[in-house]
Amino acid sequence: MPLLIKDIDYILTMDEKALLKNKSMVIEDGKIVEIGETQKLMKNWVIDEVINGRGSVALPGLIDLHNHSTQSVLRGVCDGRGLMDWLNLTSKLYEKFDEEICFIGSKISFLEKIKNGITLTVDMESFPEQVIKAAVETGIRLILTVVLADTVEVPGQKIESVDKQIKNFQVVYKKWHKNREGRVMLGLAPCGFPSSSPELMAKSAEVAAEKNLILHSHVAENKLNVHLCKRKFGKTEVELMEDIGYLDKNLLLAHGVYLTETDVSTLAKYGVSIVHCPSSNLKLANGVAPLNLFLKENVKIGLGTDGAASNNGQDLFFEMKLASLLQKGILKDPSFLPPFQVLKSVTIDAARILGLEKEIGSLSEGKRADLILINLKKPWFTPKKEIISHLVYSASGRDVSTVIINGEVVVKDGEFLKFSEEPFLARANSKIENFLLLNEVN
Ligand SMILES: [Zn+2]
Repeated sequence: MPLLIKDIDYILTMDEKALLKNKSMVIEDGKIVEIGETQKLMKNWVIDEVINGRGSVALPGLIDLHNHSTQSVLRGVCDGRGLMDWLNLTSKLYEKFDEEICFIGSKISFLEKIKNGITLTVDMESFPEQVIKAAVETGIRLILTVVLADTVEVPGQKIESVDKQIKNFQVVYKKWHKNREGRVMLGLAPCGFPSSSPELMAKSAEVAAEKNLILHSHVAENKLNVHLCKRKFGKTEVELMEDIGYLDKNLLLAHGVYLTETDVSTLAKYGVSIVHCPSSNLKLANGVAPLNLFLKENVKIGLGTDGAASNNGQDLFFEMKLASLLQKGILKDPSFLPPFQVLKSVTIDAARILGLEKEIGSLSEGKRADLILINLKKPWFTPKKEIISHLVYSASGRDVSTVIINGEVVVKDGEFLKFSEEPFLARANSKIENFLLLNEVN
């Protein structure tokens, strides 16, 4: 059932700085099978469906490397708090989450992400069955890193033994990893200090290495955290991680605002990647991560929206612009983080971080068809001369007109196709309002 995207003004392949002009693309069995002149493609293929690409730029679907999808339920209700105060409130509410609330939260998050052009999200969550169900219903490509936590320092955490948590993970892993044509993948997320003990982190790293899975934690997000870790273990979080054999190339560390130069060199030595979450770091008043230090040491960097309780949107276009502008301002260097480099961090570089660069992250024949179209017929994209710049400095998720994931068209002309949005959002609103009322959140 070949699908033709016809007469696309620009295709930003992200393989190199290639911006193809006036080309078409054929997608079949979830893959891009040919890119070329329209007439040639029409001759080569019996086309089943056509999408008009005129007036659009096509680029790979965006990859969001840090998220807590169920937090959509708490959007706007945790504003004005610093990390610890914020954690106290969110943990208190998390404790009250039931399966339905988790499912609704994740479904809102994934729907919002897809409409903003995100086709793959790394999610750090508990309640795996509900999160996966939401991913399947929305069609997003998901790497669910299951939360593993076992310390009393964080209020409201369910304390289970290391063995029990790993055993529970194995059950979900066996059932879901690489399920749904590879659109659902599993990973492990011992959240990091102070939520997870060194024993739990070490065991998780062992399982991740054995099964070649993504390992995901927070690091150096906040000054107080850094101080508490030093007080308890006499070392920085990264030093502690190195000691217990936690550092590896499959590890993604979110935030890294307070990493020291030595920490960054250590991460570089082990090939660890950092997920920069500028909105979340600013909203919780944690600060700004030193991207210049990361880049100097050749540490790989991706971007994350983080959850809707600390952002509060799920739009990587916004994060791209913010990441780029913040660093220019802080470093007084207008040439720092140029647009193409920022775009790489949410496409091909992010795919490399996940070890999926042969499958996704750029638009070329043989790769999975995860791609988006942006409607360029807008005043803020005029003149069209510098498309790459426009994608970082002028675009927002609202400009995404079409979203294709694994060859499936999930958004067309701005409309989500897999289910009817309005009744879902109405039901979600009423459930969440009840939940917040019952838990006395005003
Ligand atoms: Zn997080």
